[in-house]
Amino acid sequence: MEKQQLLADALSREFIALRACCKLLSGDVSPEDVLGREKRITAKTAALTAYLAHAPYSSAKAAAAALDMDRDEIILGYKLIQRTRAAADKIRLSVNGDYLNIVRHYFSGRMFVVVFFTGLACPGRCWFCPNVTVRPDGSRQLSLYGGSRIDQMSSVQIESVFRDIVKITRQDTSVLVKISGGLEPLTDPDTMAVILNQADALGIRVKLFTNGMLLNTPQRRRLALRAGDVRVSLSMVDEDAYGEVMFGNDTARRTQYGLPVLLENLRCLVTERNRLGTRTRIGINTVVLEENYRDLARFVHLAEELGLDYIDFKPNYFSTYTTQTLKELSARKESITALGSKGIGIYFAGSLSGDNMFWRHRNGECNPHKQSRFKMFITPSGDCSPVHHGAFPRGRETSDTGAGPYTIGRISGDASLLDLIRNMPCLPGLPYEKLNPFEHMLALEIEREEQDRAWGIPDTCNPYHFSKGNILPREILESPLLH
Ligand code: SF4
Repeated sequence: MEKQQLLADALSREFIALRACCKLLSGDVSPEDVLGREKRITAKTAALTAYLAHAPYSSAKAAAAALDMDRDEIILGYKLIQRTRAAADKIRLSVNGDYLNIVRHYFSGRMFVVVFFTGLACPGRCWFCPNVTVRPDGSRQLSLYGGSRIDQMSSVQIESVFRDIVKITRQDTSVLVKISGGLEPLTDPDTMAVILNQADALGIRVKLFTNGMLLNTPQRRRLALRAGDVRVSLSMVDEDAYGEVMFGNDTARRTQYGLPVLLENLRCLVTERNRLGTRTRIGINTVVLEENYRDLARFVHLAEELGLDYIDFKPNYFSTYTTQTLKELSARKESITALGSKGIGIYFAGSLSGDNMFWRHRNGECNPHKQSRFKMFITPSGDCSPVHHGAFPRGRETSDTGAGPYTIGRISGDASLLDLIRNMPCLPGLPYEKLNPFEHMLALEIEREEQDRAWGIPDTCNPYHFSKGNILPREILESPLLH
């Protein structure tokens, strides 16, 4: 109740401040009328804030219909939300707070991510991997790009990608390069080195996503440490359970790449990082599964013991959780986050909450090509896809030309990354359930923005663009609600 009153008071203050900015104030409105209007708008904006915290992807029109508001009220309400810290906090601290982070980084901050899928194979055989098929006898088959042989991108073509990255950065957009998979990136250290050399020369940030199994040589560890961030997947804290999830009944792999080997690799990586004095952040990425959600505190202790910088808990979006699991996860989150006593960062993806919109808003499909404003995945052969799903070996039902349905083309001597984006075809719709939570939020925000523009909501009144709070378009300065 106290928080609600604080929000209402803060919104009232902004209403009065905005009214003072309007030059066309009408003299024939009584102070009582103004007070009544202030109260009405403040109450409606408080309700609008709560509505957006619950369903941040809602268009202005849908919000107006749900809250019995008209367009002028929504426009003014959005501007008040932008300007009121308490309103922003209500959305930011809600179960859908991740949504604001995405808007802040990608829509307000203009960020573009280039993801190189360099891996040609993987020592792992995780049952939840989109590249792995579990056969009836329990053995696991890994899908490879092009079967086993592919035409890999040349270093000249990789350099051309970086020339385009430079052009993108000149358009007031920051670029982040990720080396990931697909398949395990460290199976192709030579290509990784080419990417890291280019990024180094241009001062571009690189994040490496790896399963860590091949960090077992000093050379590969030093290569990995050239990235600014090394994120190692770790899904189980017990040796047997790790072996079961990662390799199934393949005993040879369990011995060669099992948990003791991985932990030793991580210890050596941290030691090497500290010895070299590099500032590479090292952390683990844990996909929360039905099999491991009771062990999250143990993951945190392990990460601390290894001297890591952070641990990210992410959902297994290829599958779903039982209601009970989601409930228990929500109940444990606070106590686990509180474990970060030694300064280790502990992050729970919002989609690990059963109330998160990721689980509630799964029907529908995105237009994958529209995501190319924000990111592009590049496979080892140079095929480009704006969506994660389109870059996996298994997710690509290849056509006669070798291109998958979600591929916009292949980088070649005739076509650079930006050429492909400029001449991009419309791709077929992709169901939301094939998107990871990040892509899901991007898709929803792209759609929300488009619908709001079509309904006449000025871009400067986007409720999540807090930095635009002081920009007062004609629709605000001439708003009948402020006169
Ligand atoms: S380690 Fe990664 S790429 Fe390899 S099988 Fe597991 S999920 Fe797939």
